[in-house]
This record gives sequence, C-alpha cells and structure tokens, in this order.
Amino acid sequence: MKDDLTDIRESVRALCARFGEEYWLEMDRTLGYPTEFVAELTRAGFLGVLIPEEYGGSGLGVREAAAVMEEVCRSGAHAGVCHAQMYVMGSVLRHGSDEQKKAYLPKIASGELRLQSFGVTEPTTGTDTTSLKTTARREGDVYVVNGQKVWISRIQHSDLMLLLARTTPRDAVTRKTQGLTTFIVDVKAAEGNGLEIRPIESMINHHSCELFFDDLEIPAANVVGNEGEGFRVILDGMNAERILIAAECVGDGRYFVDKATGYANERVVFNRPIGENQGVQFPIARAYADIEAASLMVYHAAGLFDAGSDCGAEANMAKMLASEASWRAGDICMQTHGGFAFAKEYHIERKFRETRLYQIAPISTNLILSYIGEHVLGMPRSF
Ligand SMILES: Cc1cc2nc3c(=O)[nH]c(=O)nc-3n(C[C@H](O)[C@H](O)[C@H](O)COP(=O)(O)OP(=O)(O)OC[C@H]3O[C@@H](n4cnc5c(N)ncnc54)[C@H](O)[C@@H]3O)c2cc1C
Repeated sequence: MKDDLTDIRESVRALCARFGEEYWLEMDRTLGYPTEFVAELTRAGFLGVLIPEEYGGSGLGVREAAAVMEEVCRSGAHAGVCHAQMYVMGSVLRHGSDEQKKAYLPKIASGELRLQSFGVTEPTTGTDTTSLKTTARREGDVYVVNGQKVWISRIQHSDLMLLLARTTPRDAVTRKTQGLTTFIVDVKAAEGNGLEIRPIESMINHHSCELFFDDLEIPAANVVGNEGEGFRVILDGMNAERILIAAECVGDGRYFVDKATGYANERVVFNRPIGENQGVQFPIARAYADIEAASLMVYHAAGLFDAGSDCGAEANMAKMLASEASWRAGDICMQTHGGFAFAKEYHIERKFRETRLYQIAPISTNLILSYIGEHVLGMPRSF
C-alpha cells in the first residue's frame, strides 16, 4: 500500500541495493567500516533527516527517519554503523546554545563532522547511569575529565562524542540525576591528550571501544545545556533513539521473514518444498504477524514523538516488542535454512548476531519492563 513514506522507502532501497550483502559480509569478516555506504547515505541526505532545514538538514520527523533505518536493515545492511549520526545531534539541537547549533549542525548534516558517539556506559555501574564514576572538574576555562567508559561505539569513526560525566559528587546533590553534565568532545584533539581508545573484540562488527580518561581537558564552552543538568540532556534524546532502533528491528524482522519465505518455497526435501509442511510454514507466518504488530507500535510512537506528545511508554514498548520480534524471526529463519543457516554466504547468521544486540542495548528489556511497571502501571519502584 502506497503512503507518505513510500517515496523515501524506495529511494533508500535503491541506494542500499548498490551495497549488496557481499559488501556487508566483507565488512563483518574484516571488521571494516562501511565508509562508502555511510558517505552515500549522508550525501543523499538520509542521515540528516532530523536536522532542521535552517541548519542544512531535511527537517523531517522521526517517522521518516524510522522508515530510513527500517529499509537500511531490511536490505541486509547493519544500520548500527551510522544510526547515531541521525539522533545524537538531537541533544545539541534541543539543549545546545545558538553558537553550538550554528557551529555543529550544518557540518553534521553535510557529513563534514561525524557526531555518532555517545559516552554514557561505564564498566562498574552499567545500567545504573546516575552512579557513573567519570568526573569532570572545572578549572578556569576548562573541565578536567578522569574516569572510564565501556562499549562506546563508532568513536574511531567519529569527530565528536557526547560525554556524560559527574561534575558534582552524588552525595552533594539532593537527587541522583543532578550533578551530571554533558560535554561535546573533539575526539581527534582528545586522543593521545588524556583520552585513550581501545577497541573491544566483540560478537558483532559494531566498532565499540573502551575509553580511558586521564586529565582530559574539555573547553567549558563545550558544555551542552547547563552544568549539572546533563542527565536531562541525554535522556531527552533517548525516545528518538529507541524508536529508530525499534524500526531497525522491524527491518531486520522483515529481512528474516523474506529470506525464510523464499527458502521455504524453493528448498525441496522429500520431493516437496519444505514450506508445504505446516511445521515450517506456521512459525514464519507467526514471525510475520509479530513484526507487523511491532511495526504498528513503532510508527505509533514515532507519530506521538513528531506531534510533540509524551511517548516514553510507547518508545520503550516499541523497542522491546520489535527487538524480541526480530530475534524470534531470526531464529525461525535460521531453523528454516537448516544447516545452510550456518554458512556465512547465506548472510543470516550475521544478521542473527546483529539483531540480538537490541534486547540489551541501548537499554535492556528488564529496564523497559521496570519502566512500564512503575511509570505506566503505577507499581512500586524496585531500584
Ligand atoms: C555492542 C554494544 C554497543 C554499545 N554501544 C554503546 C554506546 O555507544 N554508548 C554507550 O554509552 N553504551 C553503549 N553500550 C552499552 C549498553 O547500553 C549497555 O550494555 C546496556 O545498557 C546494559 O548495561 P550493562 O551491559 O552494564 O548491563 P548491566 O547493567 O550490568 O545489567 C546486566 C543484566 O542485568 C539486568 N539488570 C540489571 N539491573 C536490574 C534490575 N534492577 N532489575 C532487573 N534486571 C536488572 C539487565 O537488564 C541486564 O540484562 C553498548 C553495548 C553493546 C553490547
């Protein structure tokens, strides 16, 4: 059915078709970064859809951005290499000063500056973000940063990073969300001058690193929003992130259902296509239904976001439902392909690994359930 997102979807599909699955397999094998793909996506304006026109972007909404990410993933690509370029800038857009917006947003829209790194998670505190231990101490015109981060993705392919650090000790503030500050870090200037970056060998090609800060100096002019209010600056970007990642999961899910259906129709065993067996057909049909349902929640959440309505519950539910549905669809796609599912040339095992991430990052399913239990249903706070 044609709708207002059809044109954007078709354009993204056409672009992605130039980078086939062999391209992504090669990236995965070599731990490469898809520089040409990201450059093309940027040139076509797809990574700048959320940047207002006055700053050189397309000024579209999260619905359009979600359609872009869904189609990227449906094509067999891994959107995790570049999705953050779309939404990390939201913190600067909503909380940055006029000077910061003018200095950064047009260059992010053109791709001259890559702001696709987000430094929040720490090894000892994990999900308990407000307990993070990285500190930033004001000294004249600079803040001096010390501490450690983990799983910070794409930093080696980013010019800028948003960093969350504690500027007032936790025992000196009344609420634990106070006393945290968000900074823009010039990664290239910082590396070797107080910032050490160490790649983490991991299950997927997500370019994640450990960061070590040893007296890194950040100009005070790089604070985003007010000192001590950085948690809100980061939090405000999270609904868009959750909706876009949920859209990626819908794309992954559709990819798996397409692949499983095609294989079930063509693979002949016992003299008939395996899809003739209901034991093969029904799980694929169920995966399709699950993805359709998740998709409704994703675009519902995106519509609320674009209308300026509260969408915390919907964005969280979309992320949970879509990440679980894509994982189940991946599992069924693996099962449908039998032994060939394990052959890298079929591409399924790579997508299966990639989509698994989204039940854990950027927020794990338990934390979403806890949000729904407490904030939507009014049950007691558990932590
Ligand atoms: C590939 C990858 C890329 C990432 N990229 C980034 C990035 O770019 N920037 C960044 O800042 N972070 C990034 N992360 C980190 C990610 O956001 C965290 O891994 C995630 O939020 C979970 O935190 P944790 O790993 O510390 O798990 P933990 O907080 O240690 O939790 C472990 C498990 O226990 C559960 N749990 C913990 N507390 C509770 C509770 N009270 N009730 C119920 N269950 C609980 C969690 O749900 C989880 O399943 C990335 C992670 C990965 C794996």
